[in-house]
Amino acid sequence: MTIPFHTNSRQHATLARDLDAALRRVDLTTDAAQADVLRAFENSLAQYCEVDHAVAVGSGTDALTIAMAALDAPAGSEVITCDFGFFATAAAIVRAGLTPVLVDTAPGSFLMNLTAAEQAITDRTVAVVAVHLYGEALDGEALHRFATKHKIMLVEDCAQAVGSRSAGRRVGTFGAVAALSFNWSKHLGCVSNGGAVLTNDADIARSARCMRSYGSEGGFLHSRLGLNSKLNPFEAAVLNAKLPHLDGWIGRRRELAARYRRNLAGRDTVDVPWNHYAEAHVYHKFTVRFSDRDGLRAHLKERGVGTLVCYPSLLHEQPAFTGHQVHSFDNPRARSLTRCVLSLPIFPELTDDEVDQISEQILLFVEKSGG
Ligand SMILES: *Cc1c(COP(=O)(O)O)cnc(C)c1O
Repeated sequence: MTIPFHTNSRQHATLARDLDAALRRVDLTTDAAQADVLRAFENSLAQYCEVDHAVAVGSGTDALTIAMAALDAPAGSEVITCDFGFFATAAAIVRAGLTPVLVDTAPGSFLMNLTAAEQAITDRTVAVVAVHLYGEALDGEALHRFATKHKIMLVEDCAQAVGSRSAGRRVGTFGAVAALSFNWSKHLGCVSNGGAVLTNDADIARSARCMRSYGSEGGFLHSRLGLNSKLNPFEAAVLNAKLPHLDGWIGRRRELAARYRRNLAGRDTVDVPWNHYAEAHVYHKFTVRFSDRDGLRAHLKERGVGTLVCYPSLLHEQPAFTGHQVHSFDNPRARSLTRCVLSLPIFPELTDDEVDQISEQILLFVEKSGG
């Protein structure tokens, strides 16, 4: 068997005619037509995400960079986020001249511990970046209360969670500003790279548009140290063709996750994801925990099954942060996750039969290694 950890080729084969047509409609003969494609995507994205403004940019990394610029915080200000997550989140904080304060995960969860975040507040704290990791929404109302109580800004990193909800509301709408990613590996993935900034604040939307255009609102007057990061119109066309399918794909991801859960249930097996907010999970990733994670990963690889370790180390340990101000606590729960997590293939075009085969191999290995 050969089952990749992630692939878009099955999706792109199914949508080939729609994608071809969408790409052909991008009119190369006028500049205005390309701006229209971008605006059309931004409008449908804002509508889908139930937010006033969506500003499409070149990547999720750029979206985070732009969100950090929106904080307008003095250098050395502190931004709280979770030590267990993807590099880009903490890197955006550091690049903005701010200090990430990295806290532990919550008990029985892959997500940030709000109690630990509360204990990390100082008079230099200006923001918290809430990462809805693996597609699971943090409690949006609790986050909002937390940010309001401490008079700090709430930034949501929704790179892995577009489409998920907390208490009925879409992620990305609880804070001042949110970042999305359409990297090819994400569950609303374009061909290569893309991202978006979401906000209900017209001023932040304007400054995000300025930031993605060299820090200029037009002409050669630059009010901000901006990027050159407009979403490519071809990617916008692809994403616009895909967006109507997203809810169906999320439904299919939930089915696949339920199938894994059924197949892997029982004592002496791998630990399936905690299931606190079942309706709020879009299963960007399906991540199990197992003591001999590396053994299991090698076993699956031998059988042709791709997996990924997200993430093998804590953010504060990244070599790129050497020489930068990065604060972290002990974070024992996050550390233990780095040793046992393994993400299994989960994409909407994966078949039931493939999930069964992967599950069977996992149970075989667990049995062989004595549970
Ligand atoms: C992928 C990802 C990013 C970065 O997005 P890119 O589009 O790859 O630049 C940021 N944060 C999280 C949590 C991610 O998963």
